[in-house]
Amino acid sequence: MEHREVMSINLARLLKEGGTVRASGVVREAFLVGEERFPLEGEATWQVSVSSVGGDEYWLSGEVKGVALMECRRCLKPTPTPIHAYFQHMLRYEQGLEAVAFHEEAEDEYYAFGKPDLDLLPFLTEAFVTEMPYTVLCQEGCKGLCPVCGADRNLVDCGHEEEGFHPFTALKNLLPEL
Ligand SMILES: [Zn+2]
Ligand SMILES: [Zn+2]
Repeated sequence: MEHREVMSINLARLLKEGGTVRASGVVREAFLVGEERFPLEGEATWQVSVSSVGGDEYWLSGEVKGVALMECRRCLKPTPTPIHAYFQHMLRYEQGLEAVAFHEEAEDEYYAFGKPDLDLLPFLTEAFVTEMPYTVLCQEGCKGLCPVCGADRNLVDCGHEEEGFHPFTALKNLLPEL
């Protein structure tokens, strides 16, 4: 399979002749959502197919797979977290449309596009980031950072008051850190 760094698919032939087109590639370093950066370990791979389903409608389906580096919620260590996400969307061709636009009418949801080169990165990013868990632990029973001196208690015994591992500590860690 040919891996490209271009994250788009050309639908010119599909628009003319129908059928199915496929593309695959990689995403390096990170997914970006606005200012937020979701770093990757290695590269994420993706594959996508778009099929004509009649009229101006096309069915986009794909998958993206990679390892997100997420901060452990207790000690903040970057923790490799495997992600495998699938996505499917209805597309509708509207000639001349400049940017891809999401439409929602009653139960009908689709993305309108007007150029044969369809940018896939927004679809890949949405699928990948949505699949990420809210929080991770670097290991079962991570001891976290010392609240007094900030030392990583998995690595050093700084000697500060041992909080101990009891059910209330575990409960406290279930609550989102707002
Ligand atoms: Zn940890
Ligand atoms: Zn300490």
